[in-house]
Amino acid sequence: MNQLFDKHGRTINYLRLAITDRCNLRCQYCMPEAGNKFVERKQLLTFKEMYRITRVLSELGVNKVRLTGGEPFVRHDFMNFLEMLSFNENLDEINITTNGVLLPKYLEEIEKLQKIKSINLSLDTLKSDRFETITRQDSFSKVMESFNFLKSSKKIKLKLNFVVQSDVNTDEIINFIELTKNENIAVRFIEEMPFNGIGQKDFNQLWDFKTILAHIQGHYSDINPIESTKSSTSVNYQIPTYKGTFGIIPAFTRTICNDCNRIRITSTGMFKNCLFDEGVFSVRDFLRNGANDQDLKELFINTVHHKPENGFVAEQNRNNLNISESMSNIGG
Ligand code: SAM
Ligand code: SF4
Repeated sequence: MNQLFDKHGRTINYLRLAITDRCNLRCQYCMPEAGNKFVERKQLLTFKEMYRITRVLSELGVNKVRLTGGEPFVRHDFMNFLEMLSFNENLDEINITTNGVLLPKYLEEIEKLQKIKSINLSLDTLKSDRFETITRQDSFSKVMESFNFLKSSKKIKLKLNFVVQSDVNTDEIINFIELTKNENIAVRFIEEMPFNGIGQKDFNQLWDFKTILAHIQGHYSDINPIESTKSSTSVNYQIPTYKGTFGIIPAFTRTICNDCNRIRITSTGMFKNCLFDEGVFSVRDFLRNGANDQDLKELFINTVHHKPENGFVAEQNRNNLNISESMSNIGG
């Protein structure tokens, strides 16, 4: 029985947990070339702490977890943690968001874990030189290896995360939709947000939800909207006869907040009710000060109750109104 409700009538059953703040890429839209100020290791949640937090949340009704970062696979022993988490019988799904660079060597092992139903692979281009410009690393072939394996996996659903970047990769939007012609993959176009460690950029053209959709409609005479789950982060479509689907995530224009079912915990253990809040409390410090599971449960129930109505309200409530944290610290 779910016990996590907010005062706007929403039920929370989905946790996004950041495994680390570190990453082996330096995507331009996520962090500066020199990287972020990565925290000392002892400030990161340990895997035991992550396991305990997830267990307690799952006893309150969370049945779906997404593991993200930073790059989850750069943290030593991540595979053991994945296995450990798979034994939590309250969880129906454990999904992962990854840049795919270190994934190839773990893919076969991951396929054997029943609860891993989908992997979101971040891929913003199919051109190797452009990949290097965007990520500032020469790892395109590794990511393509992961892509090729996942697209033929019978068990793991492949979703591609494509951040739509003005003047950088908008000319590839249609190429990515064409990937769904013969493959059952879900491409998701994400509005770029100023979570890049620097702050808002000046764009020549704002590629928001409407612009992205209009661009696609300019290429296809027929696009079918698809019924999605109520709490889906993307608005989804399909080109008739195509095997896969595509979706647009209004991450920045925030038109999907009404049905939000998510909470986040950052790699340092900050609890976030919303992507746009600054972090509501440190679960890590609470645990390290001796909180028991019942204390944790009460804290989660009370905090979720005050989840802001939407991302705009969360943003207004911030002490620091300048959004400039990196997505790798927040946990994308
Ligand atoms: N390193 C992993 C990866 O890239 O998939 C997981 C963490 S990353 C922060 C999670 C997702 O956030 C990625 O799909 C990435 O493209 C997206 N992301 C990062 N910075 C973003 C930004 N400024 N605006 C929109 N999406 C962003
Ligand atoms: Fe790393 Fe993911 Fe951020 Fe790219 S988007 S720098 S891969 S954390």
